[in-house]
This record gives sequence, C-alpha cells and structure tokens, in this order.
Amino acid sequence: MSHGEPLIIVVSGPGGVGKGTIVEELVKRDPKLWLSRSWTTRAQRVGEPADAYVFATRAEFEARIAVGGFLECTEFLGNYYGTPNPEPIDALDLVLEIEVDGARQVTELREDAVLIFVLPPSRAEQERRLRGRGDADQQVAERLRKAEDEEPVGMALADYVVVNDDLEQTIDEMLAIISHCRNNPNRVRTRVGRDQ
Ligand code: 5GP
Repeated sequence: MSHGEPLIIVVSGPGGVGKGTIVEELVKRDPKLWLSRSWTTRAQRVGEPADAYVFATRAEFEARIAVGGFLECTEFLGNYYGTPNPEPIDALDLVLEIEVDGARQVTELREDAVLIFVLPPSRAEQERRLRGRGDADQQVAERLRKAEDEEPVGMALADYVVVNDDLEQTIDEMLAIISHCRNNPNRVRTRVGRDQ
C-alpha cells in the first residue's frame, strides 16, 4: 500500500456490541472517514431511521449480486446484508460496519484492510443492549447464540480487538488505531504470520 491511499477500516463484532454507535461517532469526530451504507433484506426496525440501510427485497438484492454490485455480502440470520461497491469519495478512508463473514471476505479481497473486532464486556451486558434497542426475545436469543460462533472467528481474523466497556474510551482507542494505520502504511506486513 502506498502513502495516501485510502484505508478500508472494517468494524466487526457480535450484535448488540455497540458497533453502530461507535462508527457513527468515528465519522462524526474524524472528517477523513466516511461510512458505507449497506443494503439489507431485513425489515426496518421500529424507530430505526429510513436511511440506516438501503432496505431491499430479496429479488432486488439478488439482482444486484448478479451484476457484481457488492464488495461483500452474506446471509445473516435469514437476511441478506451487503456492502455496495464503494465509489471512492476524494481521499477519505472508508469505514464498514459488518458481521464476521463479510469482514473475512474484505480481508481476503484487500490485504491492506484494517479489521477492528469489538467485543462486549460480558454476555449479560450484550443482552441488556440488545433488549435496550427493542429486539424481540427470539432475536435476542439468536444474536447471543450467534455471538458464540462469531467471536472466535472474528478474533482470529482481527488486526485489533477492542472491548466496548466504556464508549468514550472505545472511540479514543479506535481513533488511535486509525491514526496509527494512516501513519504506518507498510503495517500490512505485520498481518502476515501474526500468531493470534
Ligand atoms: P442488524 O440487523 O442488527 O442491523 O445487523 C445484523 C448484522 O449484520 C450486524 O452484525 C451488522 O454489523 C451486519 N451488517 C450490516 N451491514 C452489513 C453488510 O453490508 N455486510 C455484512 N456482511 N454485514 C453487515
């Protein structure tokens, strides 16, 4: 990777860990970041902004897959999610907030991508956050179960693992990681042979 080339920062982690809030704050605080808007076939949640995703039907989503319109996409708990092929915005660094299968795809496509995996401080706190955003009992149970599979995979893939205990501290740590990566464009070599 040469100096000045935009970074791809992948923020991943189990549901309810606070990824959405984290990436929102990152792009608010760092004007050199932009957040990709994903497509999904899941229904809009009550109270969720209409622009949280591009909400699509399965047919629309599959039509876009067929024309190679996604950087990555996957099926997660019965719905499609995908990152549309990014249109670079000037020299801004791209932030993706995605689950681990998509994160794996991006790291395979782009070895210079930075993967930050976010963990909840505990399962109980994760559950509290999932309930707090209004997920139904069944969704909470599914997402907690799914987290057990996602965490070992995400931690093995990750360049950095951050525990989101205190939001402010998490944001500071992530801004420091991003700054470090900008200042060390050859850091990609450190990914090879890491022993996590
Ligand atoms: P939710 O339904 O809670 O909004 O999202 C479910 C999971 O899908 C979360 O882990 C979220 O990060 C992930 N996700 C959101 N957008 C994308 C995407 O474009 N691609 C992939 N692979 N996962 C996504």
